[in-house]
Amino acid sequence: MPLTYSRAQTALDRALDRFQLILPYHMVQTAKKRGAKDIFEILPAVDFQKFFDLYWNSFFKLHFSGVVTTCPAFVTPDQDPGKRKIYVKDDGVTKPNTLDHEVIHYLQHPNFYPKFYEVAGHNPFILEGVTEYFTRELDSEVAKERVLDKKYQPNFLQVESWTKADASRRDAMVAYCFQGEKVDMTTISGVAMPVGM
Ligand SMILES: [Zn+2]
Repeated sequence: MPLTYSRAQTALDRALDRFQLILPYHMVQTAKKRGAKDIFEILPAVDFQKFFDLYWNSFFKLHFSGVVTTCPAFVTPDQDPGKRKIYVKDDGVTKPNTLDHEVIHYLQHPNFYPKFYEVAGHNPFILEGVTEYFTRELDSEVAKERVLDKKYQPNFLQVESWTKADASRRDAMVAYCFQGEKVDMTTISGVAMPVGM
């Protein structure tokens, strides 16, 4: 299946459906009103790269020591869900399940993305693990593909084992991710990593 706005809308609808009782009202209304056509920018590689370079220079590189020259997709760090955009590189390599992962980032509370992320150190690793955890909850086929594609597998496994150790942790993680209610996740093992959207 190619990368299409229709597939992006499916990703958005599934995430809103799953997390609608947790997401702030303003976020749900804004996401529904905008729809995938306004939230996503699915672009040829050359056009995508212009936006990647722009956001790399104005945001991502300020928080990381490593250098990343490109990536398959990223969400802009805008705090207002009416302004956030999801840029996706349509180069024949990026898979539709990337749309599901990016939708989770789009819906994250600003306290989590970008604020928790900006702290850097282990935080980007943990944030990607949490994002991957919820990506795989959206759809069992997507979950299978993500495992086969080895997408954020170490991050996912660390977050999964952290949630399994205490029954209250998954709900606490949901609340931090989508409502911005802070919870201590520093006990999740992780490695410092460069920006990986
Ligand atoms: Zn990500």
